[in-house]
Amino acid sequence: MKVVMIGAGYVGLVSGACFSEFGVEVACVDKDANRIRELTEGRIPIYEPGLEDLVRDNGKAGRLTFSTDLASAMVGAEAVFIAVGTPSRRGDGHADMSYVFQAAREIAASLDGYTVIVTKSTVPVGTGRRVSEIIRDIRPDAEFDVVSNPEFLREGSAINDFMRPDRIVIGAETERARAVMRRLYRPLYLIETPMVFTGLETSELIKYAANSFLATKITFINEIADLCEKVGADVHDVARGIGLDGRIGRKFLHPGPGYGGSCFPKDTLALVRTAQEADAPLRIIETVVASNDARKAAMVGRVLSACGGNVRGKAIAVLGLTFKPNTDDMRDSPSLMILPRLLEQGAKVRAFDPEGMNEARKLMPEVEYCGSAEEAMAGADCLLLLTEWNEFRALDPRRIKAILGKPVVVDLRNVYNPAEMRGAGLTYTSIGRPNGH
Ligand code: NAD
Repeated sequence: MKVVMIGAGYVGLVSGACFSEFGVEVACVDKDANRIRELTEGRIPIYEPGLEDLVRDNGKAGRLTFSTDLASAMVGAEAVFIAVGTPSRRGDGHADMSYVFQAAREIAASLDGYTVIVTKSTVPVGTGRRVSEIIRDIRPDAEFDVVSNPEFLREGSAINDFMRPDRIVIGAETERARAVMRRLYRPLYLIETPMVFTGLETSELIKYAANSFLATKITFINEIADLCEKVGADVHDVARGIGLDGRIGRKFLHPGPGYGGSCFPKDTLALVRTAQEADAPLRIIETVVASNDARKAAMVGRVLSACGGNVRGKAIAVLGLTFKPNTDDMRDSPSLMILPRLLEQGAKVRAFDPEGMNEARKLMPEVEYCGSAEEAMAGADCLLLLTEWNEFRALDPRRIKAILGKPVVVDLRNVYNPAEMRGAGLTYTSIGRPNGH
């Protein structure tokens, strides 16, 4: 079986490599010639644990190839996946569909024999039908079906998520298309992964509803954390106490600086816009979006008050820049909102992140980037922990105290033990814990 993956980014590259691991012949196509050159030379343009080995092994086995030429990649392919970006459109928050529609036009030009065209990108309800129209307009003769197959992998554990998903969602309208998808996912079917077959619109909506629900869970516990601080409760105990109820579940109840990343912010916003246009407003998600935006701004206030009300001329050591550990993805990371505000307030920001600094340098050139956590902390007036990389969890409170110029720590991920931090002589602020202040 042969498939084409259009877009060799976080989703396309991981999905392509995993399908090739299943024994499928995969051609990954990307417009970015540099990216394709790197991949052809065996270099991986993104940081994702395990991906390098998977790409190398399947490349060697001849099952995984890279190209900028869609037409030749499509020869003999049974399915073509669209895994290009769908960022927020500037100004109105709708998903920008230009990359998806462009890919559809390019596919149309190269169709040869029955082909299943699969949208793996996160696309608003109605997109599958629109893709179908675009292709039909260009190629009234072509034999094809459009299928929606949203991706649920998480950056940082993407390979495991793809290989052992909770479910696979397939929105398809013909038995012929469903059969192709079943064959493609056969290895997962054999390990009894639930397959949810639906129509196109339902499948498209499932992805947005899932991400919006998860964003709601995070925002819920963040607001509960703020309340905990006011009333002397501990948010971790509240999270455990409610999460052990099977109807609620323990995951996604960890408080922090507000959700970020390449999916939740744009997907919640796009769903809000879709719902407004459909005249079925989603008030809960509207509030989640507003609460999360306000939260990121409020985090700056925490640093200011930990530093005695102002940061002018003070050195802030920032550990972690990416929106979560084990990725180099900086898109919509809380750091992109928090650091510029600290700089505006006159702080000197010295940051370290194990994987995110190449990208961060392009987005925040005013920040001073350091070679290690210790270098960032040396002599600083405050330590601000933004991303819970394992190497930051392992820092010894006494060592932190010895290196910092002033013993002030603001931990927005609650990775340290408040009693140990205070025991080491540090003034410690965390989130939603009564002794964290
Ligand atoms: P990305 O920006 O990492 O990758 C997109 C790639 O597509 C880029 O390399 C770009 O050059 C390429 N591209 C754009 N137009 C093209 C075209 N016409 N032909 C060939 N290549 C083209 O994006 P991503 O993070 O992989 O996200 C892709 C989609 O998957 C989005 O809709 C996103 O919402 C969704 N998604 C992402 C994640 C995630 O964790 N990143 C998880 C689930 C779903």
